[in-house]
Amino acid sequence: KEMCSACLTPVYPVERMVVNKLILHHNCFCCKHCKKKLSTHNYSSLYGEFYCISHYQQLFKRKGNYEGFGHTQHKDRWLHKNKGTDEPDAKTT
Ligand SMILES: [Zn+2]
Ligand SMILES: [Zn+2]
Repeated sequence: KEMCSACLTPVYPVERMVVNKLILHHNCFCCKHCKKKLSTHNYSSLYGEFYCISHYQQLFKRKGNYEGFGHTQHKDRWLHKNKGTDEPDAKTT
């Protein structure tokens, strides 16, 4: 049985959706801050939590970093990841 990543209760097919590989109820796909319903075209996510675009920007950009949420700077990791694309990745035969 599948569980909703947000509320940790079972998800039935009729109310199931997948966002960022997380299974959610339609109702649970909302901004963590204002509870506004999100659409798959218009949301931001960080560490399995979802935010509307404006609150994501408000919450994360205002601080100038991501440490306010108890995580190391995500931005840095993205940069490293982009650099890593130079390296051959499972291309050898
Ligand atoms: Zn749920
Ligand atoms: Zn919001």
